[in-house]
Amino acid sequence: MLDPSLRQRLQQTKNITVFTGAGISAESGIPTFRERFTGLWANTDPQEVATPEAFRADPQRVWDWHVHLAGTVRRAAPNAGHRAIARLQEAVGRVTVITQNIDDLHHAAGSRDVLELHGNLFRLAPFVDEEALFAGERGPLICHLCGGYALRDDCDPYAGREDLACLRLEAGPVPRCPACGALLRPDIVWFGEPLDPHVLGAAFEAADACDALICVGSSLEVEPAASIPYRAIRRGAVVIEINPAPTSLTEHADAGIQGNASAVLPELFREVWG
Ligand code: NAD
Repeated sequence: MLDPSLRQRLQQTKNITVFTGAGISAESGIPTFRERFTGLWANTDPQEVATPEAFRADPQRVWDWHVHLAGTVRRAAPNAGHRAIARLQEAVGRVTVITQNIDDLHHAAGSRDVLELHGNLFRLAPFVDEEALFAGERGPLICHLCGGYALRDDCDPYAGREDLACLRLEAGPVPRCPACGALLRPDIVWFGEPLDPHVLGAAFEAADACDALICVGSSLEVEPAASIPYRAIRRGAVVIEINPAPTSLTEHADAGIQGNASAVLPELFREVWG
């Protein structure tokens, strides 16, 4: 699969970053964006339901769409690709997974060091209504429980972590923070929203520090995530891409392996680390 000198360089690596996109979860039954018109996104343009504007206009519609999405994601299990990445931790000193996926399948497979650039569908966060803030409708009060901008200045002091933790992404009315009443939303990055600067900073650091970066199943069309493999190239790391289709990275990578993640990853890791 690899030429001998590249194999040897990989064998000497002590710090690997694996960068993943929707393609790694495709064989777990979660369609990628490119398949949206036949799969998960059929009949709905995610841009219409995965934006702060859509949530502000109709929170229940956006919540219901995410509940439907979560149904598909909950039925999915990690595939041989996710499991191979988790096993890599035993062969290499340090493995950091940077994922654009929101499906939690890397954790489910056993990967320990996972940076979720676009959040996690199964976590909730307060909805921060930027427009209302600018219009002066909301005060600068921060809720002691959810960390959002409190809707009222008499947050319930008796509401505790367990009251918030028991709220889930499930069918029903959009839940509210038990202390301040703010609407809750899935803790994922919607279109037009910035990434968490701490997570993005940690991802940049991992790309800058690694000896090798393996890019799996990403079309590299979504910024700033797409720039991450190029940081590793600039630092002289070995960069391998696994994708059935060529991308903008293919010609810059040390090797571009065309194929499905669940077949290629276990075979590649066996070839290099035995
Ligand atoms: P994308 O949909 O733009 O591209 C998917 C890539 O995966 C394509 O290049 C395709 O050729 C490749 N691919 C398809 N099947 C594959 C397989 N079996 N093995 C390896 N590669 C395969 O995905 P993206 O680059 O991740 O960007 C889309 C955005 O949508 C991201 O933010 C992503 O997180 C989000 N998204 C997430 C999920 C998820 O959490 N599982 C699903 C869909 C979209």
